[in-house]
Formats: sequence, structure tokens, C-alpha cells
Amino acid sequence: MPFTALGLLPPLAHAAGAQGYAEPTPVQAEAIPAVLAGRDLRASAQTGSGKTAAYALPLLQKLLAGHNASARDLPALVLVPTRELAAQVGDTLREFARALPRPLRIAVAFGGVSINPQLMALRGGADVMVATPGRLLDLIDHNALRLGALSTLVLDEADRLLDLGFADELQRILGLLPARRQTLLFSATFPSAIEALAATVLRDPLRIDVPSEPATAPDIAQRAIEVDTPRRTQLLARLVRDEGWARVLVFVATKHAAEIVADKLRKAGLEAEPFHGVLSQGKRSQVLADFKASRVQVVVATDLAARGIDVVQLPAVVNYDLPRSSVDHVHRIGRTGRAGERGVAVSFITENDEAHFRLIEKRQGAQVPREQVAGFEPAPRQALNPQAEAGTGGIKGKRPSKKDKLRAAAAAAAAKTGD
Ligand code: AMP
Repeated sequence: MPFTALGLLPPLAHAAGAQGYAEPTPVQAEAIPAVLAGRDLRASAQTGSGKTAAYALPLLQKLLAGHNASARDLPALVLVPTRELAAQVGDTLREFARALPRPLRIAVAFGGVSINPQLMALRGGADVMVATPGRLLDLIDHNALRLGALSTLVLDEADRLLDLGFADELQRILGLLPARRQTLLFSATFPSAIEALAATVLRDPLRIDVPSEPATAPDIAQRAIEVDTPRRTQLLARLVRDEGWARVLVFVATKHAAEIVADKLRKAGLEAEPFHGVLSQGKRSQVLADFKASRVQVVVATDLAARGIDVVQLPAVVNYDLPRSSVDHVHRIGRTGRAGERGVAVSFITENDEAHFRLIEKRQGAQVPREQVAGFEPAPRQALNPQAEAGTGGIKGKRPSKKDKLRAAAAAAAAKTGD
């Protein structure tokens, strides 16, 4: 089905083609006509489903038809949880907007950098702003913009907005919006807090549930490799070489571990960089640009920072440390195999991880065969307790708490510093 069949103007349909999109993804096929028709959306869509274009394309088309009452009144707002996602959504909007017959002003704002250039950029007003909640409120407090005449609100990765503690900011922002507006809510998961949010912000929404399994799902092969904790870095270096991965995103539990592992990989002769929240925005942008341009082969990242990294043709993701939750696991492995490309997600299973990994497998309804790599076979492991061995029920209470895992990861990283 061509993009024009969804009601998109030819220049926008053409712009999608120019991005290499041969045809709409399922979420795009459902969302685009509904957004053009003015409906609210409640879309459960994973990262990699093409959700950004699903709202970006019809949003731009609608903005083209509208006009601002005053320069300070913002017509459309996309709220996102992280700076990286803000930058990425801004890039997508700008790319598509270049195809339009009249220029639209697209503003991007996030914290961690000076507010002044963002204030300057808003001087002539904006047609659409992509922002993280805290910085948006700062801009409003500076009288740089108003939300009272907003016609479209997009909440992108709404579950992460709440996970990252933006509930209060979100409530304040919602309080500034007019009651009559279009709201599009995208979330990978719908825990009760998101259901409650959806119930208050959406009006008769179209429900879109893009199944995570079927033919349209990213083509991701999962592997689970048993290895002893202190040998993970060597194994990683070996895999990067032997598997011929042009780029690999490695997830670790802490900023400290990101630094240490990247450093060791560099010493092993690989182009590796850490990526975490303590790095300056400039450094983070540089690492991403280098990664995209293949100047860096391995990025070692924490979950928070890695959110929103979108590198086309990312062949591999490695869970050096397991994610804390199965939701994080979905986000992590969704970084590879995007939009129809093949990808592999490798999880290192240390002596402490088996029960936790089983829980992740259970939640995603998948079983990943355990492997060992020659030369990296783990030392014989103690038998797990019988209930955990049975793989049902008994894991609860035996599984380390988040704090336990963080402590263990920090201890492991500290131990590795010394080796
Ligand atoms: P998203 O789910 O928005 O993060 O998109 C994931 C990736 O899919 C991005 O790299 C997009 O450029 C790409 N993409 C989006 N829509 C399509 C499409 N219709 N065909 C092929 N790739 C797409």
C-alpha cells in the first residue's frame, strides 16, 4: 500500500519514500489516516515499529493547513522522555518538513544545555516543538511560549516519561493545555499508570495495538551466553571480532561500568566509547555521530542514556549486564533489527543471572538456549535452588532486588577495575 493511499500529500509521501520507506509499517497504516481525521490515538507500539513517522507525517500535513494566532502560541507539541529522543524526533520532523511547499518551524528543547539558544530559536515562534518536560516548563516560565492554543499533543514513549519521574511536570503541562485538542499517546507498555493517564488525556481514542511478535516484528535473534563475571570483557572483545559486527551497542548497569568496559575494549584495540548521563551533551552527541559514521565500533551505554539511540543498521546489541526489568529488555533489544533489518541480541549470563534471565524469558514468552563459547566456559556452577530450577513461581523472593543487582554490578565493575 503506498503512503498516498493513507491520505498523505504527495510531497510527504515522496519524503517517506526518500527515507527508504517502501511502504507504511502497520502502526503507520492505522495511525496516519486517523490523525489526519482528527482522532485521538492510544497506540501501543514498540520502538522500531515506525511510530515516529506514524505521527510526524500527518502532524506536519495538519500544520501546513493551520496558522498561528500569535507567535508565542504553540500549535503542536511532542513530549519525549530524553534528550536523545528529542533530537532524533526533531531530525525526523525536519527531514520530512523539507519536502513541504511552505517551511515549518520545528523547535527542539531539552535540558542539560544552555537555555539561551533555545529561547532565541523560539523568537519567531514555532509550528511544532519537541521537548522534554522539564525544559519545556522552563521555556514557559521564561514566557517563550504558551500552550493555551495548542491543537495537537503527542506523548511519545509515555511509559518512559513516567518511569523517569516526569509525572509532576506532565501534570503541570496538561494543566496548561486547552480542553479541545487532539492527543496522540504512544507507549511500548501500558501499566496501570499509563492506562490512568490515557483515560484522562484521551477522548474516544482509536486503539492501535501493534503486536510485538508477528511477521512485521523486527527480525531479532536472541542468544544467551554463559560466562563468568570477570571474563565478560574479554569475551565481548572476542565476539566483536569473530562475529564481524560493524557496530555494537553494549548495555551495562552503571556509568562506572560503561567507562571501565569501554576503556578495556580500547586497550584491546577496539574503537569503543562510553555513553551515559554524566557525559556532557556535546560529548554524547559526538559519540552518537561517530557511532553513526562508523568511526566508533562499540558504544558501551547505560539504559537511560541509550534510550533513543537510533542507528540504522545496528547489527548487534549485547547485554553485558542484564537489564533490570523485562520492559528494559524490550527497549534494549529493540535497538537492533529496526525496521526490517536483521539483528542479534546477546545476553551474558553470569553465575548470578540465571534466575533473573529466566524471569525475563518468562515475561517475553520466549526461551533462549544457553550457549558457551570455547575458551570462555564458566567454572562449574552451584546447583540453583530446586524451585528456581523448575522455572516456575519460586523465583520470587530469590531474585535479587534492584538495589542488590546495582550493588552487585558496581562491585563487579569495581573488581574489574583492579584486574
Ligand atoms: P521508530 O519506531 O519510529 O523508532 O522507527 C524505527 C526505524 O524505522 C527508524 O530508523 C525509521 O527510519 C524506520 N522506519 C520508519 N518507518 C519505516 C517504513 N515505513 N519503512 C522502513 N523503515 C521505516
